[in-house]
Amino acid sequence: MLALLLLTGLLGLSFFWQPSSAQSGSLPPAFPASVSVSSPPTAPADYFHLQKKIYRWSDQTRLVLVHISTPTHLSGWQPWHPQLIKDAFAEWQRALQNRIMFVFMPDTSQADMVVNWWPVSTPAIERGAAGINMMSTWGKYIAKNDLFLSLNDQYGQPHSPGMLYATALHEIGHSLGIQGHSDQPTDIMYFSVNERSRLSPRDVNTMLKIYAAKPDFTNPPGFHLSRFADFQKTQQKSGFRIPIMIPIPL
Ligand SMILES: [Zn+2]
Repeated sequence: MLALLLLTGLLGLSFFWQPSSAQSGSLPPAFPASVSVSSPPTAPADYFHLQKKIYRWSDQTRLVLVHISTPTHLSGWQPWHPQLIKDAFAEWQRALQNRIMFVFMPDTSQADMVVNWWPVSTPAIERGAAGINMMSTWGKYIAKNDLFLSLNDQYGQPHSPGMLYATALHEIGHSLGIQGHSDQPTDIMYFSVNERSRLSPRDVNTMLKIYAAKPDFTNPPGFHLSRFADFQKTQQKSGFRIPIMIPIPL
């Protein structure tokens, strides 16, 4: 669903990134790489039980092709944004022990997933939302996946690097298959995140269980979504009943 910017107070300010002349414009700025969090002792080691259906990428295909758009004309855009998002994908890849590997593509026509940017929250997403993931299914297949991240908050202030990173981790978590939200605020997949939120052991355990489970929805093995239009035509010719693409906003 939606990642909301909640933390604004002294605690948040202590992590706020200030530009410095020593920093290169092409590199992501420094921010707290990880914050050790511990779930309440009573919390289970994962929240897999909250998953109703299993949506996940084929580990036979293994490679997921990602395009990160670069809207240099948008207010708040910074040249280090793509690297920040690549780092978030890399963190999930490590958590998944390389069962799924991300490859970054130069254009959308070759991509399974596209990372889009919005200047601020738009009517398409709830006011104040920092990100959203849209997965579409076609029958039992994942047919399309788009992530949307907003560059600025609802007041037009640029999101801090930590907030963008946390939002990207959350939305990538949805794009990899976590449905709904965790019930613990210490997890990145809780319904709201702040700029200190990072992957927790519960997030990692849940994702590993999803990738150990039989999928209800996946991409066909060895198949990338850029070929989906051709695939649909082939299925139609063979008399396959055409399901409607169903977008699932998360
Ligand atoms: Zn969400």
